[in-house]
Amino acid sequence: MRTTPPARPFDTPERASFRDTVQRFIDTEIAPHANDWDEAGDFPWALHEKAGALGLFGFGIDEAYGGLGFDDALMRFDCGTAMGYAGIGGVNASLFSRGIMTGPIQQLASEDQKREVLTEIVSGKVGGALAMTEPSGGSDLSRLKTKAVRDGDDWLISGEKTFITGGMKASWYVVGARTGGEGFGGVSLFLVPADAPGFTRISIRKKMGWWASDTATLHFDQCRAPASGQLGQEGVCLLAIMDNFNHERFSLSAGCLGMARRCLDDAIAYAQQRETFGKPLIKHQAIRHKIADMSSRIDALDSYLQMIAWRINDARDKGAPMPAAELAKVKVLASKTAEFCANEAMQILGGAGYLRGCAVERIYREVKVMAIGGGSEEIMRDLAVKQMGL
Ligand SMILES: Cc1cc2nc3c(=O)[nH]c(=O)nc-3n(C[C@H](O)[C@H](O)[C@H](O)COP(=O)(O)OP(=O)(O)OC[C@H]3O[C@@H](n4cnc5c(N)ncnc54)[C@H](O)[C@@H]3O)c2cc1C
Repeated sequence: MRTTPPARPFDTPERASFRDTVQRFIDTEIAPHANDWDEAGDFPWALHEKAGALGLFGFGIDEAYGGLGFDDALMRFDCGTAMGYAGIGGVNASLFSRGIMTGPIQQLASEDQKREVLTEIVSGKVGGALAMTEPSGGSDLSRLKTKAVRDGDDWLISGEKTFITGGMKASWYVVGARTGGEGFGGVSLFLVPADAPGFTRISIRKKMGWWASDTATLHFDQCRAPASGQLGQEGVCLLAIMDNFNHERFSLSAGCLGMARRCLDDAIAYAQQRETFGKPLIKHQAIRHKIADMSSRIDALDSYLQMIAWRINDARDKGAPMPAAELAKVKVLASKTAEFCANEAMQILGGAGYLRGCAVERIYREVKVMAIGGGSEEIMRDLAVKQMGL
């Protein structure tokens, strides 16, 4: 059964129609294969192209490069929640991680680069990855160690990146590397092709969750990137990355909402048909309280996220910054809600939930990465308070 989400005060016929399209895509193309793809640790590339053909990678990207020519946080919200609800985070991560590198390309790349690179990534024909995190740390990107040194018409990049989603299959990378002094001010972004001389990658195979998503460690050994590969100016490019992180945090939060609701719905369905002590599980007060707690947290998150989506749209229309404090706060609320609901749903399913092959078990394994990636809970709390001016 599907529980009814709270009201959608900002809904429009266009958003409802987009939501239907995404849901149909998930129902026909993803849901029937979720378990098999998770076990296989992979899924067919054709899915990227199908999602691309529906425009799912096109938010905020100009039509000239295959994008939608507009952005809408409420549509991103619908897409993120539906993908989270599908209950296979590896597919979600693998498809949509390109979104954290197309934004900087749209904002900073030259016309030629956009035509060559953006068009094919947004269409889903090839993959792209954002490479910021290094073995020495991901939370404090102002200390990243990868270096880029000018050599004639080229840049020579040296260093290592790790935990990179889509890293094994990507054809293009947006790479953060130090070209100047300490801190964010000395960092530049580079657009690097997978066939650049001096670039190699190794798969990280054994992960707690996101099995269907490929993850890689990237090595740059005097990797030669053309001068034109530098995106924007040293230091300034980080602003584009920050904007990007805000979109990422919003989408991850929407994904958490979908995951949490899926846990609630599957727990209710199970509790309605399972009998213990002579009556359905759902009639036991302790279980009913779990359902109530899950449902109220989910509704609160749902309403908060819709309000933030409206604020993101409003800020964009006014040329104002994104609501960074709210995005940091909601990211923590979202991962905590997903974690709580996955835990309670597992408990309601009992031994059945512990077996591989059900969405609740997958989600239980996948909530942790939501508390770490895209800005961990600790870092988001710090950022929220800083953004509140404290
Ligand atoms: C499956 C997966 C996919 C990922 N995909 C990508 C990707 O595509 N591209 C990319 O660039 N990165 C990616 N990442 C990396 C991710 O962004 C980092 O893991 C994250 O930023 C945290 O960095 P870290 O793991 O190095 O932890 P660290 O920065 O070493 O931190 C370790 C722990 O300490 C906490 N901590 C750190 N500093 C503080 C502090 N000041 N106060 C309190 N607590 C603190 C952190 O919250 C964390 O819990 C991915 C990670 C995973 C697991």
